[in-house]
Amino acid sequence: MASRKTSDLHPDLEVKANQFVAECQRRNIDILITCTYRSNEEQLTLYKQGRETPGRIVTNAKPGESAHNCVNPNGSPSAQAFDVVPLIHGKPQWDATDPVWQTVGEIGKSFGLEWAGDWVKFKEFPHFELPGFKV
Ligand SMILES: [Zn+2]
Repeated sequence: MASRKTSDLHPDLEVKANQFVAECQRRNIDILITCTYRSNEEQLTLYKQGRETPGRIVTNAKPGESAHNCVNPNGSPSAQAFDVVPLIHGKPQWDATDPVWQTVGEIGKSFGLEWAGDWVKFKEFPHFELPGFKV
């Protein structure tokens, strides 16, 4: 299982993630962080989905290419991305056509995060990362 702990994020992103969650709560949006750090092994499993294993393709990032895979020089997690889902009446709202997703995206961007809902090639509505992340 990938981590959901904000303490596994890069310190700059941990601050922003906590501010983001607080702002969502202030605006009565119940938000759940579903993933912070993901190991290279977990990234490979995800990459295979829709290619070698059942399901739809959910990522184009190979192990080490995702901002979720970042580590400190000593190997401890320092993810530069996190994924979220809004909860409506306690249930995850995965349908990205729900306008709540645009609000969530705007809130993330107001804290200087890059929102993958804006990406042109492969939109990932749940995904936020530190701007400038490069493989
Ligand atoms: Zn992500």
